[in-house]
Amino acid sequence: MAEKITVGHVHMSGCTGCLVSLADNYEGLLTILDKYADLVYGLTLVDVRHIPKMDVALVEGSVCIQDKCSVDEIKETREKATVVVAVGGCACYGNITRFGRGGQPNQPQHESYLPVGDLIKVDVYIPGCAPCPQLIRNVCVMAYLLLKGNQEQQELAKKYLTPLMQLAERGTEACGCDLMYDVVNQGLCMGCGSCAAACPVRAITHEYGKPNVNREMCIKCGACYAQCPRSFFNFDVITEFEGISELIKGALQ
Ligand code: SF4
Ligand code: SF4
Repeated sequence: MAEKITVGHVHMSGCTGCLVSLADNYEGLLTILDKYADLVYGLTLVDVRHIPKMDVALVEGSVCIQDKCSVDEIKETREKATVVVAVGGCACYGNITRFGRGGQPNQPQHESYLPVGDLIKVDVYIPGCAPCPQLIRNVCVMAYLLLKGNQEQQELAKKYLTPLMQLAERGTEACGCDLMYDVVNQGLCMGCGSCAAACPVRAITHEYGKPNVNREMCIKCGACYAQCPRSFFNFDVITEFEGISELIKGALQ
């Protein structure tokens, strides 16, 4: 077996819920750490004080630009990591920190929070609040295949990761309105309801077979658009769903 990849968890202005989601893979996480990845950084779990070089950085949380340490840390992460993954709505889109506007003790000047992609180049997005444990797991396995696998495995990993890389290229803003602008307004909505099922705050209802977003409730996590089968439907991968599921299941045994 090829050597393991090195992975770090970088905690910016997040709630640790994304890390809990990773841990919610239970034995799956232990197998990943056993066979495929060494956790070389992560202040919650590893006693390493400074960011080391690593293959994959899993970044959680947005960046407070009035906090110099945070700004330095995210820039250093980009320098030290081969692949930067924004994990969760805050890192990808700002999420609830989009509503931060300072004025609270004891750092009233901490008022501006930006998604990671506004400060550094991000390679892969895993949206969601909290992001799905299985998706974080799959990205870890695919990152291993991409960096250490044979040519066939590398091709598969690239195919799998492409939509999540396209999400990263698409930008750092998310809102339930994305469904209107980029799906319904484009004549693409088929009324499947996946967006409503994905919304963690139930801001989406279905009326007359189409989504209706309550903008007052939306926390700007990006889950609905990412989950919509009319946003990024990667036929190459989805049509091979069973094979890929078997591969990941086999990898985790
Ligand atoms: S998930 Fe996409 S296609 Fe399905 S109802 Fe929502 S907007 Fe329409
Ligand atoms: S509508 Fe719901 S799922 Fe979509 S961005 Fe807002 S909170 Fe997230």
